[in-house]
This record gives sequence, structure tokens and C-alpha cells, in this order.
Amino acid sequence: MTARTSKQYLAGLSDEREVWLNGRRVKVTEEPALQGSLRGMAGYYDWQHRHAEDCLVTDAVSGQPMSASLIIPRSREDLTARHRCYERLARYSYGMLGRTPDYCNTTLSGQAGRPDIWAKGEMRHHDNLKRFHREVIEGDLSLTHTIIHAAIDRSIPELAGMNADLTLRVTERRSDRIVVSGAKLLATLGPFADEIFVYPAAPIQKGEEKYALAFAVPVKTKGVIQVCRDHYGVDAAVRDRPFSSRFDEQDSFVIFDNVEVPNERVFVDGNIEVYNAIAPAVFPGNVLQQTAIRAAVKLEFAYDLCVQMARAQNNEKRPDVVMMLGEIYGYLQMTRMAIHSAETRAFDTGSGAFFPHPDLAIVKTFMPMWMLRVNDIIDTLGAHNLLVTPTLDTFDDARMRALLDRYMPGANGMSAQERTRIFRAAWDFSGSALGSRVELYERYYLGSRQRALAGDHFTAQAAEKWGQVHSFLKDSGAL
Ligand SMILES: Cc1cc2nc3c(=O)[nH]c(=O)nc-3n(C[C@H](O)[C@H](O)[C@H](O)COP(=O)(O)OP(=O)(O)OC[C@H]3O[C@@H](n4cnc5c(N)ncnc54)[C@H](O)[C@@H]3O)c2cc1C
Repeated sequence: MTARTSKQYLAGLSDEREVWLNGRRVKVTEEPALQGSLRGMAGYYDWQHRHAEDCLVTDAVSGQPMSASLIIPRSREDLTARHRCYERLARYSYGMLGRTPDYCNTTLSGQAGRPDIWAKGEMRHHDNLKRFHREVIEGDLSLTHTIIHAAIDRSIPELAGMNADLTLRVTERRSDRIVVSGAKLLATLGPFADEIFVYPAAPIQKGEEKYALAFAVPVKTKGVIQVCRDHYGVDAAVRDRPFSSRFDEQDSFVIFDNVEVPNERVFVDGNIEVYNAIAPAVFPGNVLQQTAIRAAVKLEFAYDLCVQMARAQNNEKRPDVVMMLGEIYGYLQMTRMAIHSAETRAFDTGSGAFFPHPDLAIVKTFMPMWMLRVNDIIDTLGAHNLLVTPTLDTFDDARMRALLDRYMPGANGMSAQERTRIFRAAWDFSGSALGSRVELYERYYLGSRQRALAGDHFTAQAAEKWGQVHSFLKDSGAL
């Protein structure tokens, strides 16, 4: 089986996974609060069939249609196919679902395409990874990932003091498996995923080998405990809450309590050189292609939404409003240009994998600011209008409809219903509980911006020759 449908996806979630929500252990497929979001996630799988020309390619092994997000890119054509797939999939939620399965698929395919990184350690671990990649293709599995150490005390290193006892590590080795315990942040989509994929993010130091881990286990594995935040999905009509009614991709904190990982599912175990080489090799160009395209689709939506809000108030030509609209369009254009530039300068990594240029990682530094600013603009443009929005069934009452038509229309002949729809969508996008959670997601899902800025500086020092100041002073005779 490849390229699942919604029905097949939902059937796969009905198992003994341990998920805690609102103080109870819940069965995700039956928990009333989760049903809207589950339907929303499931719809993604039907969407890929509905847009098969963009989302699916033929699996060379089985001959079945598979998600293009699972291609190991070997050529420019492969990258173009992936681009089409990411863009179409992002249009399902207009980027409000950040962690649709194509995200982790891109990470996994990228790692599967880089055996050269594993050549510094044990190739059997890369063979395990390739087999896992095949499993994911054949089952069209949905992955979550947890890659951040669960450090609490920020005055000491992440793997020192009390932090050392919190974070996921190997606690026992048997002939056919390792046993791991500890916590990891954060599993977006965790309760709705089939597999949990743990792999390296920030580098670790010599002496910290027991934390140098990469593996995957089914979410239902004994000892994998997911502790959920409140669910922000709401039981409401799609027309009233177009995002919150369907698109809460539920985050969880994951505790691994003596989880047994079979040897064939271990991808890194103690080799610091391999561990530290994976993220820089696979993340910047490869994973950023998916995330930047998702962000561009979201910015398109945000721009159009803000234009509609301005038209509803007939202030589209007012100087302050024009500037805000131009600002969002500018973010969109810069994102598009960054993607285009990285795809145009795509290159063979030397292992046969063909990745967009790693300069695309700059998007990770600036997108959090841009996304926050977009929400700020929505609040500024929308003001009280964001709250003057009855649920749309109010229009079903003839008397109320007449009153709302009279007192709550948009400008320029826009109907009251149309105006209501626009501002309800805007509130759900930026101001609702889900909107706030998505804002936090944009701020942190690729790590903190502070770390990204520091990384950019180190990259600049390593990648380019500097000395302009001295040259200028020398040329000017000042030195
Ligand atoms: C909604 C959401 C969903 C997420 N989903 C996932 C997921 O599915 N899987 C996953 O693995 N991760 C996920 N993450 C990301 C992850 O869990 C962390 O929140 C994120 O990487 C930030 O990591 P951190 O706490 O280590 O931040 P840090 O980098 O430590 O930053 C925390 C704060 O410390 C400060 N800081 C840090 N370094 C510096 C510095 N050098 N100088 C100055 N200040 C600094 C900054 O103020 C920063 O805001 C998600 C995050 C969110 C918010």
C-alpha cells in the first residue's frame, strides 16, 4: 500500500498508543475533542489523491503511487516534482498546518540520500534508515519527530546537572535492542502520527555519547507516553472557524519510559561524529525547501486576507494601509526569491542526493519575525472588526439577517455575510487559541531565532573571506 486515503490513515491510528489529554488517558480516534482535527488531518490524505498530478509519483519499487515528498532527490527534475507537491499540500490548510507528514518525509528522505555521512560510522545504521524509509513509503506512514533536549535549567549546559537526567538517553544495551529513557520536545502531530522519529538537532560534545541517538519506533510502542497541551481545535462549523474546526495538529511532550528500540530501528548510537554531521548536511537546503514553500503559501493567503479586510473597510488606498499590504507582499516575494535562488543553485551533495542550496536556511532566521509581523498587521488592520463577527448561522434568522445586512455590511457593496466571513477567518488565523499556538509555532518550530542568528554569524565567518575594513583603510592610505 502506498498513498493512503483518509479512511486508511484513520484506521492506522486505532491502537494502544498512550496519549494523555485533560488529565485522562484518551483513545485518539474516539476522543470527542479531537474529532474535528482528526478529520482535518485525514483530509490531507484525500487531498493528495485529489491533486495526484502534483502530490503523487510512481514508486519505482512497487509501481504504486507514492507521495512525492518521499523522493530522494537525485536531479533538478526531482526537486521540481517535490516543489509542486509541497506547494499543493500546503494549499490544503494554506500553511496553517505546519507539520503535515511531508515535513518529516523530507527529513527522512534527505537522510536516506546521504549515506556519506554514515560512512564516518557504521553503515549498518544507514541500512536501517533506508529500510525505514522504504517502510514509510510502503505504508505512507505519518511521522512526528522529537529532536530537542528537554533541558529545564538554562543556566547550565543542556546535558549537564539536572538536565542530564531529563533528556532521552540509552539506559541499557541488549543483544537485539537498546533501551532508552528520558524526555524530548516537542511532538507536533504526535497523537495523530504512526511513528516517532528521533534524530539529531543541535550538536553534542565528546563524553555525551549516550545522548547521541537516532531511531524510530511506532507511536504505540510500550513506554512512549505523550502528554498533550490543551486541544485548541473547536467543535464549530468550518464557515465560522475555518482553521480551528479542522487544523489543530496537537503538540505533545514525549516521555520515553524504558522504551525498547530493536537494533534494526537504530540509526545512530553513540557516534558523535555522525550525530553532529546529520543536521548540517540534511537540514538547510533540503528540509528548508518544504518549510519555505509552506511559508510562502501562508504568506500568499495572509496578503490576500489583508487585502480583503482593507476592501471591506474601503481603506485599501490609505497610505498606512497600503504600506502594510506592501510589507506582507514584500515578505512573500523575498521568500519566493530565496526558494528560487536555492533551487536554481541546487547541487549534487556528492552522495547522489541533489539538494537546494543551503543558503535557503536564512529563511529560518527571518520568517519567525515576518510571521509575527503578519499577525500584528492583521490585528492592526482588523481592529474591532475582528470581534464584530456573529457566527454565520445568525444570518439564518430573517429578522437578524435584515438587521445585520443593514448595520454590519462591508464597504463598497460587500454583503454582511461576506464581511463576516473575512473577519472570522482573520481572527481564526491570528487571534484564536489556535492562531496563537500557530504564532508560537512559527516563532520556534525550527529552533529559536537567537540560535539561528548566532548560526548565521558562524556560517558567515566560515564561508566567506572578510577584511573589507582593513582593505578600505589600506587603499585609502589610512593604514
Ligand atoms: C508550537 C511548537 C511546536 C513545535 N514542534 C516541534 C516538534 O514537533 N518537534 C521538535 O523537535 N521540536 C518542535 N518545536 C521546537 C522545540 O521544541 C523548541 O521549542 C524550540 O526548538 C526552541 O528550543 P529551545 O527551547 O531549545 O530554545 P532556545 O534556543 O534555548 O531558546 C529559548 C529562548 O532562549 C533565549 N536564547 C537562546 N539562545 C540564546 C542566545 N544565544 N542568546 C540570547 N538568547 C538566547 C531566547 O530568548 C529564546 O527565545 C516546537 C515548538 C513549538 C513552539
